[in-house]
Amino acid sequence: MAGIDHRVAVATRKMGDIPNFVWFAWECLDDADGGVMLTGCVSSGLVTKGKRKGRPRYDGERKRVVVTDAEWLAEKERFERETGKCSECGGDGKVLVRWDHIAGTTYGACFQCKGTGSLPGLTVTGSTDVEGIATATESGTDSTPGASDCTALTDS
Ligand SMILES: [Zn+2]
Repeated sequence: MAGIDHRVAVATRKMGDIPNFVWFAWECLDDADGGVMLTGCVSSGLVTKGKRKGRPRYDGERKRVVVTDAEWLAEKERFERETGKCSECGGDGKVLVRWDHIAGTTYGACFQCKGTGSLPGLTVTGSTDVEGIATATESGTDSTPGASDCTALTDS
């Protein structure tokens, strides 16, 4: 599962568990917090004919959710603590580096875990309260996001 989209995980949690909800667009926001806006809707089912056959119909009422960079970083941290796996590659040590129509998909060693799939010194706390993601943005402001996050996890 190379390249997990933790933003989608945050957005889905904010939206709640809506049956048949599908995300179909995202765009970078140009504000100080960074962040991405995801747009989705409840799908009435799959397209049964034509070029888009087999893909969801995006015909429900559109809903939008903003995921800030702070929330995204908090989600990555939560993922690592809960699963004990590297958040970049999802634990398989591989990330997508290249794709073309002849060679197909090429994977390389994950830059964060050096291809091991796990992070040294990571303290796994198991499943955490998912409500914590809402407050994580406030409590996370006093720490500087970045490469030091991995080692900071061992302090808790
Ligand atoms: Zn990794």
